[in-house]
Amino acid sequence: MSLNTFERYPLLFGPSPVHPLDRLSGHLGGARIWAKREDCNSGLAFGGNKTRKLEYLLPDALAQGADTLVTIGGVQSNHTRQVAAVAARTGLKAVLVQESWVDWPDAVNDKVGNILLSRIMGADVRLVQAGFGIGFKDSWQQALEEVRAAGGTPYAIPAGASDHPLGGLGFAGWAEEVQVQERELGVFFDTIVVCSVTGSTQAGMIAGFAGQDRPRRVLGIDASAKLAETRAQVEKIARNTAELIGLGRDLRDDEITVLEGWAGDLYGVPVPSTLEAITLTGRLEGMIIDPVYEGKSMAALIDLVRDGEIPRDSNVLYAHLGGQPALNAYSGVFR
Ligand SMILES: *Cc1c(COP(=O)(O)O)cnc(C)c1O
Repeated sequence: MSLNTFERYPLLFGPSPVHPLDRLSGHLGGARIWAKREDCNSGLAFGGNKTRKLEYLLPDALAQGADTLVTIGGVQSNHTRQVAAVAARTGLKAVLVQESWVDWPDAVNDKVGNILLSRIMGADVRLVQAGFGIGFKDSWQQALEEVRAAGGTPYAIPAGASDHPLGGLGFAGWAEEVQVQERELGVFFDTIVVCSVTGSTQAGMIAGFAGQDRPRRVLGIDASAKLAETRAQVEKIARNTAELIGLGRDLRDDEITVLEGWAGDLYGVPVPSTLEAITLTGRLEGMIIDPVYEGKSMAALIDLVRDGEIPRDSNVLYAHLGGQPALNAYSGVFR
């Protein structure tokens, strides 16, 4: 088995762009930093990392005769918005269970940004009271039952399209894509920095890179404030994905690195380092990152380069996974 044996439904423009962040690199005075841009990987509703994962789930849904994609996330979930876009594009229905994962006081939190986009795209958006959790949830089971009871055929997509047998394939493909782009650019990225919450983004990367000749570090940055759970999920999905794509060996523990220290106390709530990372990146590069995910992984990158934990001669690839629509619910923190 290899990645090519799995059917892929094209949703992306093609390879996502890679470019250097020269002013940020100069400012930090250390490693050379580049970005690979999942935030502009697709024409579907602002794209993002979930769109890339869904390229591999969608053929499975269609093969099963599904007519409704049923998924779950927080109120400002990027993932559910990307499922809504994919459903619209493919003529399926979408039921989105939006739980109150973040106790965020913004008056328009459930009206703007991602949830607004999902409503525009015709998804059945259901607001549910339940706290943060990346596992299987009652509210999601119930939504699946309701679709069945109404005579529909649901296809269940877990939070972040992660805890799903095919969840890691999209980013295993990303690892292959990086290798091709490196040859074109004449550069080798020895260090990858990626935000981790539901885990299949980093897990797919780990599995994909593990089959390449030259080793590199994939530094996952926890943004869930639940390190043990994030790491366990990354490990499980990485091992499953490695097996699916025929890696032919077990992953070593040292290939699975999830770092804590930048999430703050709560998923979805930015801390000062998050806001500094967002404004710094915006002012030096004109690159926009969000307060839930990318602001936290960028804060980590900044510290790791400044402290020399990422050495001066490194070429670092920052995986920009999208997520900007959520900024609309966070205007209060930038006043
Ligand atoms: C979902 C998401 C992540 C985290 O990816 P996982 O695969 O859930 O670990 C990071 N950044 C953004 C913008 C996301 O939407």
